[in-house]
This record gives sequence, C-alpha cells and structure tokens, in this order.
Amino acid sequence: MIDLPKHKGQRKKLVEKLFSKGIRNKRILNAIYSIPRHFFMESDFDNYAYEDKAFPISASQTISQPYTVAFQTEKLDVKEGEKVLEIGTGSGYQTAILIHLKCEVYSVERIFELSRKSKKILSKLNLNARKLVWSDGYLGLKDFAPFDKIIVTAASKEIPPELLNQLKINGKMIIPVGEINQTMILIEKKGLNDFKKTDLGLFKFVPMLKNKV
Ligand code: SAH
Repeated sequence: MIDLPKHKGQRKKLVEKLFSKGIRNKRILNAIYSIPRHFFMESDFDNYAYEDKAFPISASQTISQPYTVAFQTEKLDVKEGEKVLEIGTGSGYQTAILIHLKCEVYSVERIFELSRKSKKILSKLNLNARKLVWSDGYLGLKDFAPFDKIIVTAASKEIPPELLNQLKINGKMIIPVGEINQTMILIEKKGLNDFKKTDLGLFKFVPMLKNKV
C-alpha cells in the first residue's frame, strides 16, 4: 500500500471535478488532494478510488462519494480545533478528511469489523482521531458531549433526539433524513429547544440502523 505519483495525479483531477461541482473551500479541496482514498477501499476497487463515486466496502456498506464527503464537510463549516462527532465511521475516509482539517474527531461505527479496520488504516496513515468507538450512533457519545459539529453519514428515518441534545448551542449538525431517497438537512442549534433546519437537496446513503453488531 504505497501512495504512487499516479494517485496524486488522479486526486488532482478529483479535486478539479469537485471544484466544477461547486465545492469552493480550499482547505477541504486540499484535504481531498492529500488523503489517499485508495487506502480506505478494498484492493479490487483500487483503480476506482479517485472517481467521484461511492463504492462497496466490507459488511455491505459503502465508502461515501467524494462529492458527498466534501459537500457535508463544507456545509458543516468545520473549523480547526472544533470537536466533531461523526456517526458512521465506515471506511474511515470522512474521518480522515476531518482529522486533516485539524478537528478533534470522535467517530462511532455500529459494525465491529468496520470499526476495527478503519482504526487500523487511520493509524497506518498517522491520522489520529480523539476516539473511534464501536457503538450505536443513535446514542451519540454522552461522555464526550457537547460537540461543536455533528456529521451523520448514514440515513436516518428521523433526526435522533440524543444527537440534538449533544450539540452545543450555536453548533451545527448535518444529516441525511428519509428512507429511499434522503434529504440532506443542516440543523443549527440556536437555543436548548430552538433548531433552524435547512433543506440541502436529495442524496443517497446506506441506512442508519439501531444496535451495534
Ligand atoms: N463515513 C463513511 C460512510 C460509510 S457508510 C465513509 O466515509 O466511508 C455509513 C456507515 O454508517 C456504515 O459503515 C454503517 O455501518 C454505519 N452506521 C449505520 N447505522 C449506524 C449507527 N446507528 N451507528 C453508527 N454507525 C452506523
């Protein structure tokens, strides 16, 4: 697993593609250029790693499409040093992008095998999350709350109330909500029970399921 010059060329093209689709945040584009996405994929799909597509990983899950990763990260407006909770570690790719952006990242994954694998890959790349936890993301991470930002990378039927509780006042959460197609929703917590919700369009995600396995 080495980062060949060809991958850098492919990543540069991917960055150009994301720019053409409207991603403008330079730090995010630089993170996409810097993080070797092929490390987070099954080796059979190595050649597709820098296409702007979601791909299967283990346990019937997917690595999110780079555009979706960049879009969610951009809308969440993450800043250096912020405490960010990610629900759905999956491959660890989104986690890596957030770490590259110098956030304090807490990430939760319900499937043990994926939690273990992503931990291994991130440590191999020397990308240090604050916590990678095998747990049910519906519960959030009470012991480490509140968070400045929360990013959910699996589709939920409703907005999990515990995640709203664990968000700081003036914090933001981004979450795809719905069953077959999902609407990306940006939530801003204005007060303890005061949430502003903005609809950001349709996306497709694997479902958020209850209980760890
Ligand atoms: N951020 C990931 C996206 C992976 S797909 C990436 O960049 O690769 C979504 C992930 O959410 C899957 O790994 C799935 O197992 C996980 N997931 C689904 N429901 C969950 C829950 N309740 N708690 C934590 N993780 C969950």
